[in-house]
Amino acid sequence: MTTVALIVAAGTGSRSGSALPKQYRPIGGQAMLAWSHAALSRHPAIDQVLVAIGTGQQEALHAAVPGATFVMGGATRRASVAAGLAALDGASRILIHDAARPFLPPAVIDRLLAALDTHSGAIPVLPVADTLVDHAAAVTPRDGLYRVQTPQAFHMAALVAAHAGWTGGEATDDAQMVRAAGHAIALIEGDPMLEKITFPADIAAAEARLGARETRSASGFDVHRLEDGEALWLGGVRIPHHQGLSGHSDADVALHAITDAVLGTIAAGDIGTHFPPSDPQWRGAESGQFLQHARQLVEAKGGTITFIDLTLMCEAPKIGPHRAAMQQRIAELCGLTTDRVSVKATTTERLGFTGRGEGIAAQAMATITLPAGASA
Ligand code: MG
Repeated sequence: MTTVALIVAAGTGSRSGSALPKQYRPIGGQAMLAWSHAALSRHPAIDQVLVAIGTGQQEALHAAVPGATFVMGGATRRASVAAGLAALDGASRILIHDAARPFLPPAVIDRLLAALDTHSGAIPVLPVADTLVDHAAAVTPRDGLYRVQTPQAFHMAALVAAHAGWTGGEATDDAQMVRAAGHAIALIEGDPMLEKITFPADIAAAEARLGARETRSASGFDVHRLEDGEALWLGGVRIPHHQGLSGHSDADVALHAITDAVLGTIAAGDIGTHFPPSDPQWRGAESGQFLQHARQLVEAKGGTITFIDLTLMCEAPKIGPHRAAMQQRIAELCGLTTDRVSVKATTTERLGFTGRGEGIAAQAMATITLPAGASA
């Protein structure tokens, strides 16, 4: 089974207020068309992406998406799709996408393809939120009305036959043609990110949406045993004490909990995933490097650590005298100012293993921001 995607990008885009057709206008550093082309190309279920372009747009296409395969579109949307269908002969499923909808969440593609298991066609829709009126300002009930987005997904044979048999006027989308040919079309949940870009203000709004960041918090927890003959490292600080912590690396229970919290914000497993305790190279290792690695993974996704909150649970040593030094070291490791690192401590009222002085427990919360949709 071959699944292909056709991006209809043959328009001249005069309403966007630019000489360059809008599908080639930059948004957030790359051409509008490049965003959906990338989303379709990297989706594991899609084997080929073809772009239907307008006359004289080859250079603009290759500047936008180097190496993109294309077909010359026609004078109308329907003619452009027909040209694409002819070029994609032999595929079993097809997604038809509008280049003016740059931000295409992979989950929408998943939902469309799943719906093709039971339907000849599937379209993403969103409910109508605005009040609708007719030409006489009479309110039309909006229950059961939806706004249609793209991509629209079809069994290739159904779409080809619908195009061949179409006798209506200019169709604004393919679903109405396939439906007119007698097929049921599934409605799947669309996405606000897929909004169409028509006017210059839409481009500004899209860029603002691109700049939007989401905030995530995650927790970490760790315990190490207190033993004689070990050095005590807590929060990256060497603390004079008659016992120290034993275990993985330098057993800095505070930095381990913070590292797990930071890894948690990007769902990247835990400290043992990245630095297996069975690996002899981490014996006695300075735990700051684990936290720095977690920070680098966050930053590789465009993220930034914005706050760390740490609670240590032990009867001894007293944490207060070392709090400022720990804040300073954790701040350095996370790229923060010290007013964004909270270090707290509690006893457990002589209860449990911490109360008996057998070990120290640490609980941490890390907060980060990262570009909205970064992991999509
Ligand atoms: Mg540990």
